[in-house]
Amino acid sequence: MGWPGAGLAEVLRIGRPLCHSVSAVVAGKDAVPARFKCEGDPEGYQKGTLWLRAALPSGRDGQDDLSLIVHSSRFDRLLVTFSYADGAREQQDVRSGDFGTHWRAGGQLAFRAPHRDVPLTGVTMRFDKVASADLLRMRLVGRGEESTQTTGLATSIGAALVLLLAGAIYNASLAVAVRRQFSAWQAAWAACMIAWGACWSQLHLFFFPGMAGALSAQICTGLSCLAIALATLSAVTALDAGSVSPWLRRTALGLTAIVVALGVPLSMMRSGPFAALGAVLGIVLLANLVAVACCIAQAWRRGSPEARSFAGAWAVPMVVLASTEFFDADRMFWGGGSQILVLFAAAWQTLWLSVAASRSHARLRIERDMARRAEAQAQELARRDALTGLPNRRGFMEKVGSVLERARERGEVVALLLIDVDWFKSINDVYGHDAGDVVLAAIARRIAPHEDRNCTVARLGGEEFAVMIAGLEGYDLVRFGDALRQQIAACDHGDIVGHRKVTVSIGIAEALNGAEFRSLYRLADEALYEAKRQGRDQVAIRLLDEKAAMEAL
Ligand code: GH3
Ligand code: MG
Ligand code: MG
Repeated sequence: MGWPGAGLAEVLRIGRPLCHSVSAVVAGKDAVPARFKCEGDPEGYQKGTLWLRAALPSGRDGQDDLSLIVHSSRFDRLLVTFSYADGAREQQDVRSGDFGTHWRAGGQLAFRAPHRDVPLTGVTMRFDKVASADLLRMRLVGRGEESTQTTGLATSIGAALVLLLAGAIYNASLAVAVRRQFSAWQAAWAACMIAWGACWSQLHLFFFPGMAGALSAQICTGLSCLAIALATLSAVTALDAGSVSPWLRRTALGLTAIVVALGVPLSMMRSGPFAALGAVLGIVLLANLVAVACCIAQAWRRGSPEARSFAGAWAVPMVVLASTEFFDADRMFWGGGSQILVLFAAAWQTLWLSVAASRSHARLRIERDMARRAEAQAQELARRDALTGLPNRRGFMEKVGSVLERARERGEVVALLLIDVDWFKSINDVYGHDAGDVVLAAIARRIAPHEDRNCTVARLGGEEFAVMIAGLEGYDLVRFGDALRQQIAACDHGDIVGHRKVTVSIGIAEALNGAEFRSLYRLADEALYEAKRQGRDQVAIRLLDEKAAMEAL
């Protein structure tokens, strides 16, 4: 059989240029088949030995410096024999569970033809109990190229795994922090893809060299089916129930179930109709992807906000997965082929959805903060009087409790001032209700600045205001009340009330050893009545006799 092309990196395929031979039972140690067939497919090798041989044409550049790269597959043992022009043979072998120093990142095994002065004339591979000849991939490359490829592969796999790890950690913490089921699915999927990536690329052999070979290949098949199931579940369950038809959802989930149902036995199998099952799995997988794409498209059409994020996240992996079903990507990415593409597509998906989840989370937080702020504003408004902006009776009652409490704890004097506008009805009657409102607002502006830690003010209703003050007693208290009265009286209301002077009467109730609000209020009201009776525009004070007040209660 002729040698295809003259380049160094050559894909070896059965029949082109590999010739094959099969022994039905595992061949003896030194056995070499007498005859090789260069046409047709090998058969009956799964329980025996499959031999593959390529003769190397003489006179090619770099022929004395070659590495054989075999993509890891399911077999018990692989023995590679390099033949030289002088009849010498060099052998290297690996076994399932022991790849020695031959394993490379990217799920590959490398066998370097020892350098000799005579040219290499051929390479023979002996596979014992290989699961599928169709899935065997081999290449011959120059040794320098092999190092570059291995480094390139290891770097890109490492990068993809780190991206996936970041996505997995981020989604897991999001799932815990904001209790989002979808983030948990996404973290599980990313973790599954990391496990698959580590297993396929063989990086796990750093830690578990005994897993080399068939066991890893089986785990990989299982993990890839699990990853597809997790991805479908996360996409289909995250889409709003109303935005996807139930039958479409059921179809996607049903196809996922078939992927798992086919994938599990395929991962267990060591022999049997591998290629046929693999092909069926590929078709079901494509159908599954199409079903998920339809779910997303339908949800998008029906206005689901999640569908947009999913479309962006799934577009790349879907195109990648679907395209690997149609074209042979094995030679791409230093032989890492479709698996590298799948790893990067998975990283893309996880990162995209992480960004989408953060954005929606941030939006929710902003909305929640705005709602809280609006609620706080509404609460605040409910405690304020709309006309004057002072606390209303409700706001005042909520505050006086703590003022009284604090005064009692410190043994401070506390006083309540009731301020009532004199002859206010006549202002309304003469100048109108609106003018009355303007006057009330102006008076409130004189009272408001007194609000501080020890003093709380309010408009109790109508033309009646209140001030509760702690720490002032006797003469000082009367002076404070009178100063307030004068400030209000000095207020210039302009021609709103025809330059009429607007005065207030103030009734003060003073309690030396703490008091109930109700008794303070009653006493302040009595004092106010007194001030009104004695001619208005003045202050009257009453001292609270706590004992008498208690008896009166
Ligand atoms: P006195 O000196 O005895 O307090 O006489 P007065 O006219 O101020 O007392 P009265 O209680 O008879 O009248 C209070 C008036 O206050 C009656 C009511 O129409 C008016 N009033 C109550 N609330 C408002 C308000 O929000 N705006 C205006 N413009 N007037 C109000
Ligand atoms: Mg009044
Ligand atoms: Mg009045």
